[in-house]
Amino acid sequence: MTYRPSDKRYETMTYNRVGNSGLKLPAISLGLWNNFGEPDSFENQRQMLTRAFDLGITHFDLANNYGPPAGAAEENFGRILKKDFNGYRDELVISSKAGFHMWDGPYGDWGSKKYLVSSLDQSLSRMGLDYVDIFYHHRPDPDTPLEETMQALDLIVKQGKALYVGISNYDANQTAAAIKLLKAQKTPFIIHQASYSMLNRWVEEGLTDVLDDAGAGAIAFVPLAQGLLTNKYLHGVPEDSRAKKSHIPFLSEGDIKEDVLNKVVKLNEVARHRDQSLAQMALAWVLRKQTVASALIGASKVSQIEENVKTLDRLAFHADELAAIDSILKT
Ligand code: NDP
Repeated sequence: MTYRPSDKRYETMTYNRVGNSGLKLPAISLGLWNNFGEPDSFENQRQMLTRAFDLGITHFDLANNYGPPAGAAEENFGRILKKDFNGYRDELVISSKAGFHMWDGPYGDWGSKKYLVSSLDQSLSRMGLDYVDIFYHHRPDPDTPLEETMQALDLIVKQGKALYVGISNYDANQTAAAIKLLKAQKTPFIIHQASYSMLNRWVEEGLTDVLDDAGAGAIAFVPLAQGLLTNKYLHGVPEDSRAKKSHIPFLSEGDIKEDVLNKVVKLNEVARHRDQSLAQMALAWVLRKQTVASALIGASKVSQIEENVKTLDRLAFHADELAAIDSILKT
């Protein structure tokens, strides 16, 4: 069946400006880290991407190594772009990254100019694109001079292969140092992709201040703690969950600990009083920070995307709700 995007796709989504840049991102973005690899149903991938677009999700986040195997998510995404999104490239913000192990030898990992430039060429070829909208350095490299990595990002923009650049997993000090170099080069750095959720609040200790001072924004990844901040693990570990999938090594049954579940039960109560699901409250909670332009979710089913987009129905928090959440998180 040929996909035709919904005419109503821009009616309900909110689009937030990234820092002081000209770029706006949907409040909810979709990442392809998991569920877009070779073991995953291609038809389900198509349905998730097309339904997301129908709901106003214009931003899809990838990386060279997403799969499995590494590269498969970009390949599948490229096939779906060609099949379903032909003619819609200009309505999409597509990002990719390099920084983790991608190929053997000294040039397939970390942050050298050699690695970043060739990795992006490979990503573009897998996705069938001329350029990405945002290209990230995926993690800091302790051995390559930061100047070289930042020059590589600048070169990539000058080559026309990315419109904007970002960094990911850099701490506050590393971010400040990178921003200094990027500003001196006039590189269009706009965004930090950082882990942020109710269970992981490190960005509040300095990073958001650095970004605010620089006029940059953030996109919060793993905002649902890989599914822990939903109601799915409250009554055991479902067979079709990430924690049960042997090809996804990032969350196992052992990670679903009692102390976390105790918090999740209490958070679920707060969400119920707000007339929203825990997933929706967890997403609204990361979006309450002005610096955070978008919550970058993952999904294994269309219904999860639909539920998560409804977060926008209730974004605001009362002070007493925030205080209740803080006190639960401190236990
Ligand atoms: P989330 O925290 O959003 O977890 C997604 C998982 O939560 C889904 O796969 C699903 O689990 C579950 N879920 C989502 N919505 C619901 C719902 N409404 N009800 C019940 N369960 C739900 O994020 P991810 O861990 O998937 O990461 C998101 C993106 O962040 C990645 O795709 C990637 O783009 C980016 N990222 C970036 C990193 C970086 O270093 N820069 C590192 C990691 C991620 P299930 O599969 O069990 O159904």
